[in-house]
Amino acid sequence: MMGIQPQEDSNPFDSSPKFAHSEMSQAVQPQENLNPFDIAKQQFNQAADLLGLDSSMRAILVNPKRQLIVSVPVKMDDGTINVYQGYRVQHNVARGPAKGGIRYHPQVTLDEVRALASWMTWKCATVNIPYGGGKGGVCVDPRQLSQGELERLTRRYATEIAPIIGKHIDIPAPDVYTNEQTMAWIMDTISMITGGSQLAVVTGKPVSLGGSVGRSEATARGCQFVVREACKLLGIELAGARVAVQGYGNAGSIAARLLHQDGARIIAASDTRGGAFNPNGLDPVDVLRHKAETGSVTGYPGADSITNKELLALECEVLIPAALENQITLANASDVKARIVAEAANGPVTPGADRVLHDKGVFSIPDILANAGGVTVSYFEWVQDQYSFFWEDEEVNRYLEKIMIKAFHEVLQKTQEHKVDMRTGAYCLAVHRVAEATRVRGIFP
Ligand code: NAD
Repeated sequence: MMGIQPQEDSNPFDSSPKFAHSEMSQAVQPQENLNPFDIAKQQFNQAADLLGLDSSMRAILVNPKRQLIVSVPVKMDDGTINVYQGYRVQHNVARGPAKGGIRYHPQVTLDEVRALASWMTWKCATVNIPYGGGKGGVCVDPRQLSQGELERLTRRYATEIAPIIGKHIDIPAPDVYTNEQTMAWIMDTISMITGGSQLAVVTGKPVSLGGSVGRSEATARGCQFVVREACKLLGIELAGARVAVQGYGNAGSIAARLLHQDGARIIAASDTRGGAFNPNGLDPVDVLRHKAETGSVTGYPGADSITNKELLALECEVLIPAALENQITLANASDVKARIVAEAANGPVTPGADRVLHDKGVFSIPDILANAGGVTVSYFEWVQDQYSFFWEDEEVNRYLEKIMIKAFHEVLQKTQEHKVDMRTGAYCLAVHRVAEATRVRGIFP
């Protein structure tokens, strides 16, 4: 029996630097710590310094509340058994149940899940919805599994994390390489275990199973709303503005379609295999059709091939990283020519790159604001499931727009108050809200 080797994880309390390049390397690239959880802690500490948080409050807020590592054996179609490593981390629940997606990816590590869980805490607080932060992941390449294998993996992982999830405890949702079908299997598995219909245990479900209309577009729609606000602020006309999108999945492809509807010119799109570029603009819906048919945006007729690195350095008004962490680092930040970077992905820009972009005058809309539309409509879904009363598209999108625009301006205000960039402004807003909830709740017992 052969299994995929789980990734090795580092100690969450170990703050010794883990660098992107070997200390022995002769490369001239600046060295930078790319461990996502170290980055998340660094971002938190910057806001904690500005807010003057004491050491006890910092200790409570920086580390995850609960971390579960599970072993997930799966019967493969050929009769062998593979064992995958899975995680569920609840970073903070001071303002409500933990909330956050589940990622299937061959490079998932515990530190990545810890970072993603803590970013969820700050994201929910930034847009002021009543949740804490959580995240899950399984170290697997789902593209190598059949539909049957994926279903068995999902149901076993759901069973392993069942003791710590629930509508008032921790509510998963989709993330990279998971989708509505994954959520439907989790909802069914938890319902079978408990003997009742557990609609509100996960969000991002199909509309036929208690999902919300507008949820699948919500991350991108939220991103569209904040890009519009940033353009207004900077005096950029969105109609005709050039937009480049890295990562053409749920968040990226829909952001491209929505901004195209606003008149923007989508000049480039990419995925793991590379990108397609046309300075005159691509048809985002047709690019998606091409990706569905061929498995990639590459080779799109009438477009030039570019690498992901080249895409990030394109002349454009809006750059949307919508893939994974650590895409814009100290090594390539100075190449970025966009006026706005809207982080549809979680953690695409490192702290070192943040400083470079800020010094260059790039306006960055941080992940905890730019992609918060997804969790906001997940919140609407959870509310609808518990009321068993479902809203129309118009209502979902109207409330989403109100929340996103309010959050954008609250973050902007903090940015001006503390004379910092938008990420630090968002952290100041979010960390203050979570610290205040922690203070009024008190420490049990
Ligand atoms: P997805 O699986 O639908 O799509 C991911 C896309 O990124 C795919 O097209 C894949 O080919 C591409 N990709 C992966 N690695 C890449 C790389 N190294 N370079 C270029 N492209 C690459 O995932 P998604 O749900 O769209 O998530 C994308 C990002 O958005 C993640 O960071 C996720 O955490 C974040 N996000 C998603 C949601 C949501 O509701 N889906 C909400 C908030 C944040």
